[in-house]
Amino acid sequence: MLEDKNPERTSLSELGEFGLIEHITKHFNTNHTSTVKAVGDDAAVIDASEKQTLITTDLLVEGVHFDLSYMPLKHLGYKAVMVNLSDVYAMNGTAEQITVSIAVSNRFPLEAIEELYAGIQLACETYNIDLIGGDTTSSTKGMLISITAIGKADKEDVVYRNGAKESDLIVVTGDLGAAYLGLQVLEREKQVFQVDPKNQPDLDNYTYLIERQLKPEARKDVAGFLKELGVKPTAMIDISDGLSSEIMHICSQSKVGCKIYEDKLPLDPQVISASEEFNMDSTMIALSGGEDYELLFTVPISDFDNIKGNPNFSIIGHVTAENQGMNLVTRAGQEMELKAQGWNALKED
Ligand code: ADP
Ligand code: MG
Repeated sequence: MLEDKNPERTSLSELGEFGLIEHITKHFNTNHTSTVKAVGDDAAVIDASEKQTLITTDLLVEGVHFDLSYMPLKHLGYKAVMVNLSDVYAMNGTAEQITVSIAVSNRFPLEAIEELYAGIQLACETYNIDLIGGDTTSSTKGMLISITAIGKADKEDVVYRNGAKESDLIVVTGDLGAAYLGLQVLEREKQVFQVDPKNQPDLDNYTYLIERQLKPEARKDVAGFLKELGVKPTAMIDISDGLSSEIMHICSQSKVGCKIYEDKLPLDPQVISASEEFNMDSTMIALSGGEDYELLFTVPISDFDNIKGNPNFSIIGHVTAENQGMNLVTRAGQEMELKAQGWNALKED
């Protein structure tokens, strides 16, 4: 995991807004030829070339989307970038720039903002992203972060949610449910800590789960894998809210139904053991957990041989006619209607 903790506390008011912006952006370099002007003018300038431009934004609010009692600021900065890059990759595009806007209350010292930006910078370096601007303001309570990612793709490469066709295969990258269980582990430890701050948690059995929650990686690699295989998805989406609600987006926009097979859902062994420990159904978690930032896509059945056996991909079902609805085939062979429950719904159970 990422290093954190800086014992110094410098008040943000000592620097002022311009001092702060200068301080947090000075260590960033730009790499892309499409970045004509980054931080420092009234607007950034991008040379959009002949490709299509992809733009996506996410707003993260303290207490709603993140809890700083177990989310280190450096991880938060990293994850906030991932959430956005994931949306660009879900369009089968390349991400090149981000803007970062923050609102912070006076509870945060400069060192906290430095940690946040250290995570943002690590994400930018790892994923080859230019930070080109943003906005900085104060909030009366807590922290807000809004990131916009800008990417590009050739017109013929862009993949939308609405292109899935009957008989297409449904494919997912990586594995499912770990990020949600990581959150459960962290919330449990937070409660234990509140009761007895001397209690040192033993998290060895949950390292993968916690990593998936605190340091997710966006699937930058998938577009390249698909290109190598000569496969172009008919529809694609990233899994931020949980598999079933994302499949529903593809089905409703493509006007199709689907059949998902319970025994095909990719689960890490830690997901299976932690589900048992938390007395939760691992299938339910895989379907509704959320925050996995994997990609879900459909491909024509003629691509079966290209996809099957590839360790990056799991074929979990197929597309059906719209009037057949969206169904899960259980291990026992029963068909159940898929319910669109994001992780919020799961939490209320
Ligand atoms: P303006 O008054 O035109 O809004 P600002 O003083 O807010 O300009 O910003 C100055 C420059 O710094 C701009 O290029 C802006 O995009 C950039 N910037 C401001 N805040 C941030 C931030 N939190 N992260 C990255 N860049 C920022
Ligand atoms: Mg501004």
